Amino acid sequence: MSLFWGRGVRAALDLLLPPTCAACGTEVMTEGAFCPDCFQTAQRIVSPSCHRCGVPLENEGLGGSESCCAACQVHPPAWRSARAAFVYDAWSRRLILPLKYSDHTENAAVLAHHMAAAAPDLLMHATVVVPVPLYRTRLWKRRYNQAALMAQHVGARAKVPCMLDALQRVRATRALARLSAAEREQEMERAVRVRDRCCHHIEGQAVLLIDDVLTTGSTAAACANALMRAGARSVDILVAARTGRVDEQNPRFIQE
Ligand SMILES: [Zn+2]
Ligand SMILES: [Zn+2]
Repeated sequence: MSLFWGRGVRAALDLLLPPTCAACGTEVMTEGAFCPDCFQTAQRIVSPSCHRCGVPLENEGLGGSESCCAACQVHPPAWRSARAAFVYDAWSRRLILPLKYSDHTENAAVLAHHMAAAAPDLLMHATVVVPVPLYRTRLWKRRYNQAALMAQHVGARAKVPCMLDALQRVRATRALARLSAAEREQEMERAVRVRDRCCHHIEGQAVLLIDDVLTTGSTAAACANALMRAGARSVDILVAARTGRVDEQNPRFIQE
């Protein structure tokens, strides 16, 4: 009820007040636009970036003709291609954390706009959009899945259908960022699956998987593996932001 009330009040105020920058609250001319300061501060991930995991490459030569970072060449990820709109830093957290924890669901549309702009090729390729699922206790607590909100906006932009409940977390998992690569894989193993009734809808599809942040890559890999096991033709990943620092011990993954 409080969420409904909060959203209702915010929607009413939005009609009365001028639009504001989603990241800092400064008044702007256009709904959904960033203020000039934020426009400059935003670290968009642009080419060159690794086409497999989306990590920014320092120069074009580093990825070779395949535009693939050294880590992905050694351990190719479970998915075909991953892309992020922004580097996950103090600035992008100002958009993402309120979406996840403070009911600022309107940020989903802003982020989806930039995600779609960062990945026109992935949108063209996709035949279905699927969000990374939340475990049910977390969903009850938060009352919405931020990845599902972004998936709906991305799907609408791409004119591609969404399957919001295709994936299911069948057990709660520990925080992954502090675990080793092997521990993460073990933790996520069988934690995600395609719902039985959705399997035949996934078969043969080019899935675009949506999440807010790509950090260790373990959750995205578990989702991609589950979708591929269900017969997906391909799985691409599109996220709002990704961490940019390669973890020395586990070069396959990127640490927060
Ligand atoms: Zn701003
Ligand atoms: Zn890579």
